[in-house]
Amino acid sequence: MASLRSTLPRALRRPSLLALRTTTTATPLALRRNFSEFNPTPIFHLTETEEMLKESVGRFAREVVLPKVREMDEAEKMDRVIVEQLFEQGLMGVEVEEEYGGSGMGFGAAVVTIEELARVDPSVSVLVDVHNTLVNTAFRTYGSPALKKKYLPRLATNTVGSFCLSEPASGSDAFALQTKAVKSPSGASYKITGQKMWITNAAESEIFIVFANVAPERGYKGITAFVLDKSMPGFAIAKKEKKLGIKASSTCVLTFDDVEVPAENLLGVEGEGYKYAISLLNEGRIGIAAQMTGLALGAWENAVKYVWNDRKQFGKHVGEFQGMQFQIAQARTEIEAARALVYNAVRVKEAKTGEGFVREAAMAKLYASQVAQRVSGSAIEWMGGMGFVREGLAEKFWRDSKIGAIYEGTSNIQLQTISKLLQKEYKV
Ligand SMILES: Cc1cc2nc3c(=O)[nH]c(=O)nc-3n(C[C@H](O)[C@H](O)[C@H](O)COP(=O)(O)OP(=O)(O)OC[C@H]3O[C@@H](n4cnc5c(N)ncnc54)[C@H](O)[C@@H]3O)c2cc1C
Repeated sequence: MASLRSTLPRALRRPSLLALRTTTTATPLALRRNFSEFNPTPIFHLTETEEMLKESVGRFAREVVLPKVREMDEAEKMDRVIVEQLFEQGLMGVEVEEEYGGSGMGFGAAVVTIEELARVDPSVSVLVDVHNTLVNTAFRTYGSPALKKKYLPRLATNTVGSFCLSEPASGSDAFALQTKAVKSPSGASYKITGQKMWITNAAESEIFIVFANVAPERGYKGITAFVLDKSMPGFAIAKKEKKLGIKASSTCVLTFDDVEVPAENLLGVEGEGYKYAISLLNEGRIGIAAQMTGLALGAWENAVKYVWNDRKQFGKHVGEFQGMQFQIAQARTEIEAARALVYNAVRVKEAKTGEGFVREAAMAKLYASQVAQRVSGSAIEWMGGMGFVREGLAEKFWRDSKIGAIYEGTSNIQLQTISKLLQKEYKV
């Protein structure tokens, strides 16, 4: 299959030209923070590049990923060839600048990619999501020129990355993390000791962003981000989890036993890791929301094909009974509503800097994960016995949907965030 890079005209991939050439809801740099100068367009209006990407990723998902989805789920393992092809297609460096070997596109393009992949396999989607929205973005935003030069070309072309924040005793309360980093007397290196839990992509990754505390007495203000290579002595993958859903996506426990990390592998500034984690997860949340809307649409499409075309009872297709039609219409309406929240969050994020999109991101993730669970659950019922057996993908979509309410902030944590921001606005 032709690579994604080759399907996009070179000029069209340059962000500056993109802003000039396309009618879009995305905001050109010069107009940041000034929505008033825009003619409103439908929320799903994609840029020309995003539209082409959607089409090309959708084809890749159907032709390359789909034939392997069931096999990967049963084996609980990501196919190595798929990972290689994701790199070949430019999907592992969507936003990475071309000078580092990336595709040089925008955040909207990353979201479109995540959503299209999830329509076929939420496991492949989350691999791409974490790699792009958390790992690559961390390097792009906080990395020193040397770190970017060393790691971004690998991350964009051949090496998977992981984002390591959670620990056995710190999930929702992420900043209670206990992994420690001790600076050497000369300041040339740090020794990292501790454990991380539930780390996505860990079995495939060679590059790990690890959050550790350099000054526990300062609480969360000691949290610092480091870049670890799998080859560093003392680094180990202790366990690969067996899971309910997204089984092909690896989720592992990592241990660090006095891992010596050179000072140049400190990501950003010592003690600012907590700020980076918050900011990256705010953005990452939009990616998970897109994974969930893609999943919901995939489950819906899979079921309607069957009930409108294949399965007949009482002399007609089962999807033609009004009791079924109304449920199908209701589900699709909810999917569209969730997608509106997701793409609104994308455009607000593209237009605003700092934390200006936190509420939108939290609402999108909360609602999209609820819709994904509801729709994928109903889709099984619409398909009857065929929805329940492991022959098709209906039951898998439902199992995969559960994680949306858990990772990158549980639903309760999203509700807490939304409520806090609303109170700020309304409380006198
Ligand atoms: C498949 C998978 C992949 C993951 N990938 C990664 C990864 O790549 N990197 C990473 O760092 N982490 C990862 N995680 C960890 C994930 O982010 C955490 O599981 C998540 O943040 C929730 O933490 P917890 O599991 O400890 O739940 P807990 O924090 O123990 O929460 C348990 C319950 O208590 C509720 N709760 C907690 N605090 C509050 C509160 N203040 N108010 C109301 N309710 C509350 C929660 O909503 C939840 O319902 C992954 C997890 C899974 C399962």
